[in-house]
This record gives sequence, structure tokens and C-alpha cells, in this order.
Amino acid sequence: MGSYYKTPLLIERGEMQFLYDADGKKYLDMFGGIVTVSVGHCHPKVNEALKKQADKLWHTTSIYLTTPIYEYAKKLTDKLPDHLKVCFFVNSGSEANDLAIELARLHTGRFDMLTMRNGYHGMTQTVLGCTNLGTWKQPLPSGFGILKAPCPDPYHGPWGGSKCRDSPVKLKRDCHCLGDDCQASRKYFKDFEDVLNYDFPASTGPAALLVESIQGVGGTVQFPKGFLQKAFKAVQKREGLCISDEVQTGFGRLGSHFWGFEAHGVRPDIVTMAKGIGNGYPMGAVVTTKEIAASLGRALYFNTYGGNPIACAVGSAVLDVIKNEKLQENAAEVGTYFLKQLASIDSPLIGDVRGKGLMIGVELIDETGGPLPRERMAEIFEGIKERGVLVGKGGLKGNVLRIKPPMCINKQDVDKAVEAIADTLKKGK
Ligand code: PMP
Repeated sequence: MGSYYKTPLLIERGEMQFLYDADGKKYLDMFGGIVTVSVGHCHPKVNEALKKQADKLWHTTSIYLTTPIYEYAKKLTDKLPDHLKVCFFVNSGSEANDLAIELARLHTGRFDMLTMRNGYHGMTQTVLGCTNLGTWKQPLPSGFGILKAPCPDPYHGPWGGSKCRDSPVKLKRDCHCLGDDCQASRKYFKDFEDVLNYDFPASTGPAALLVESIQGVGGTVQFPKGFLQKAFKAVQKREGLCISDEVQTGFGRLGSHFWGFEAHGVRPDIVTMAKGIGNGYPMGAVVTTKEIAASLGRALYFNTYGGNPIACAVGSAVLDVIKNEKLQENAAEVGTYFLKQLASIDSPLIGDVRGKGLMIGVELIDETGGPLPRERMAEIFEGIKERGVLVGKGGLKGNVLRIKPPMCINKQDVDKAVEAIADTLKKGK
């Protein structure tokens, strides 16, 4: 991966929402190692759990049960709907999605997958076929049998819908909606249904829909309310499965709900998770029903490091910290404040502010309304860093500031970040 900045940052130390470079310069981290540091860098309670487990047992592989895996699987599934009872532990989000696809294919006896344009699901060969952003693709074969539905993007899409996003900030733009009746959601669903009806073999349908409840790497794209519910229903009616990729949206980040899919009122058959699950420790999980898990049959799923005792102890401590320190509630309160403050910045460069909780995107545009060109984006990025704040960037055209900090940030941190962004937009680097 290339460096984000002209001169790469050399980070030496982290402490909750702060990072320190090798010269001792302090940065407010508003990207959390790409949505991964969920509860804070080197959180003392998580570190304590890690050290305690490291002194007891590191590794056995999944050929034995260990106390941490047993306890953690119970704790994790308690956070999910009752039908999702079986956990598979892996080491990353890509691996989690790979396994979820395998399970869906085995369970349904179908091969073709349905994904959304502008989605990101990982970089291993199969899931790269589901990652629909050219920036991440090589001119080599990747997973095949993967169809893509148009992205119901309220900012760029033909049907608008930004007033129907589940966000405290609304873009005052055409929406074609009549009161609470989200026409945009209906129209985008029609496009989705056309793919479902006419692009798959008429006699079957997809093995599964794989979808993020808010697209992360794609630039914090929120589908209009009601869209995902219609999409899940249509796929499940055709006996396909629905996989919710919660790698970015899970673990309380959205504030109102612990999982992104809950905010859409849908019932996934498989949930995949990584990143925030371990606060930076490499781990991931796939959680599904007993029936779907049984589809592996006699061929066992094997993963040398998945569910290692240290990962499980870390994951367990992360769940405790989110609960005890009310971080989901904090994400709701501070995230709403953040969104409103960003929306109040008076700058012609801001095309859109969107998101929910502490999953935020700010889309930057030029004088023509088009995406801010790459070089100007790089300048702004550099300027925000020079003011001591780290944010991310993303979106199909690379012009969205991505803000997804550790969930322990407070309103003073928000003020500092908003000031750094506003000042950079005004004065440049
Ligand atoms: N799913 C989503 C939604 C992601 O954002 C990512 C990583 N950006 C992945 C899957 C892949 O995770 P990993 O990098 O841990 O393989």
C-alpha cells in the first residue's frame, strides 16, 4: 500500500484517540487504523487481557477447544439475533467473506453471487471479485460468478434519496419523495430487482447477496431507508442467502445499533466481521445458523490461527469495554454532534456530509460540482495532517474524507477536527 502523505508518517506510539510520530508529534486519530481501533489505541483493559492470556496460552489451533474460544463464542453470539449461533474464527475480513461465500454456495447448491457496485469486501482472490472498486483491482482473474447490482447512492444515483438516508444530516437536494414514502428507495430497488430477475439463471437465483450496511471504502455511502429491507426480502424469497458484511459497521460504531444490519431491520443469514472486533489485533469471524454451518459436511473448515486464545481474549475484552464504557452510546451522541458540526462548515468544496454515529463521510467537489481532483484532494489531506488531525480518504473517485475514529473520542476532539478541516478547506495547505 502506498503512503497516504508526501512524507510517510512514522508512527511510534498510540494512546486511546492519539498517535505520536517518531519525533513526538501528537496527532488526533480520526481514522483509527481504518475503522479498526474501535475502543482506543492500547486501551489498558484490552492490553491487560492480552498480556494475561499471553502468559497462559498462545496457541493450540482449533483441533482443541480452549477456554477463551468457548467463552468468546458465547459472548459474541449473545450480541446477535437468536438464529445466528455458530461462529467460525478467522484472521481478517477478506477471509471471513471468503468463508461466508463458500458456506452460501454449499448451502444453496448455487454458485453465482450478487454484490453491489462500489462495495468493498476484501482482497483475497474470491472476494476481490466482489470488491467493485477499480482502485483495488489488478488486471488478473479474480473470483468469478459474481454479479453486480447498481449502487443505490443517494448523492450520485439517478433517483437521489439523500433526504431518506438514516442520518442526522440531510442534503437539501432533489429526492422525488412524497412525505415518508421514499420513492428513491423504490426506484433503486427496481434496478436491483431487474438484476435479480434477468441476470441470473431463470431457474435458480443467487447463492447469496453480499452487502455492507453502509459502504465504507466506497465513501460512506448510505442506501436510502427501506432499500436493503426490500433487497433482502427479494433475495430470501428466491431462496438465496443474505450476508451482512459488518467489518466496518459492527461493534456499536453506528450508535443506534450494535450491528449495521439492525439499523435496516433485516435478518441476515450470515454475518461477517473483522477490524473493530479486535481493536487492531488481527482477527475476524463468520457467524451463521446451525443449518448453514452444517453445509460444510464432512470436510472440516481448518484455520491455523483463527480463534487463537489471544485473539479471543482480546475480542472478549473489546466487547466488555464497549459495554462498560458505553461506547455505542458515545458513538451516537458524539457522532451526531460531529455530523452536525461538519454540515455547518460553510465551504463550496463540500458537496455532501453523510453517515451515522462515528462512520462519517465528507464528499469534496470542485467548482463544476464534480469530484475534487486528486492533486487538490492530496493538498487538503496534507493540510489536515499538518494541523494535527488524521482522517482517511475513499470513494469511487477518491474524493471523500472518511472519518471513523476510535469510539472513545469526545466533543472537544470533534471541535479540533472540524476546525482543522474547515481551516484547510478555507486556506488550503
Ligand atoms: N469488508 C469490508 C467492508 C472492509 O472494509 C474490509 C477492509 N477494508 C474488508 C471486508 C476486508 O478486511 P481485511 O482487510 O481485514 O481483509
